[in-house]
Amino acid sequence: MTKPLEAEYPQLKINDRIIVALDVATADEARAIVAELRGSVGAFKIGMQLFTSAGPDLVREFATSSLKIFLDLKFHDIPNTVAKAAVEAARLGVWMLNVHTLGGGEMMRQTVEEVDAVCKRETLARPLIIGVTVLTSADRETLRQVGIDREPETVAVELASLAAEYGLDGVVASPLEAEAIRRSNANKDFLIVTPGIRADFATGDDQKRVTTLGRALAGGADFAVIGRPITQVENRLTTLEKIVDSARHEN
Ligand code: C5P
Repeated sequence: MTKPLEAEYPQLKINDRIIVALDVATADEARAIVAELRGSVGAFKIGMQLFTSAGPDLVREFATSSLKIFLDLKFHDIPNTVAKAAVEAARLGVWMLNVHTLGGGEMMRQTVEEVDAVCKRETLARPLIIGVTVLTSADRETLRQVGIDREPETVAVELASLAAEYGLDGVVASPLEAEAIRRSNANKDFLIVTPGIRADFATGDDQKRVTTLGRALAGGADFAVIGRPITQVENRLTTLEKIVDSARHEN
């Protein structure tokens, strides 16, 4: 299976490893963030809030203006439905999309196969397909409530191995488990994308399994998703550079 852009990862600069989460309510707010930060970060993430309000038109608009878009809709359904949704995401021109690994191996396999086939047939750039393991907002108690009486880190590492086995390009995982995932998939070319990044100077919110950008990258993350610490501040560019600078000094 060919992995688009794979050759560029080893030499990416810290800024290019940052994916900014556009967790805002309107297309105009998203455009304002993009206008301020494009050129200073690697990609932008459109998640369920913005997608629900602004829809596929905004995804197309950004994708056709040479932005790398990670469509974070965390597909989780029967294999056929997820595969067909992923195909439509590929047609929008996204750079990366994700599915829930809890949807199982067959769902992941069928999604990769159908996206591969359509992209070849329609000569589209094949998006990276990654799997969500355990949400970074979930701790041991959150998992226990839904019947999983195990450590989130253990579950995340197992789900990452399942994703690798069924052909995904990588996973979304907490920075705290990036190192263990990298170790257990050491011989594979497998991407790790970590949300839950917090600056030393940021305040607490709903994220539980968090760390700094420097520690996430040192632990083996290829890309870091950063939302509120960059988007919900006065001067986004200055804050971004502060976060990148501390990461540089941590490593
Ligand atoms: O604002 P913050 O930096 O917490 O944003 C993190 C982003 O990453 C959010 O858009 C959230 O939906 C997403 N995400 C996450 N944990 C995952 C997968 C995605 O926090 N496991």
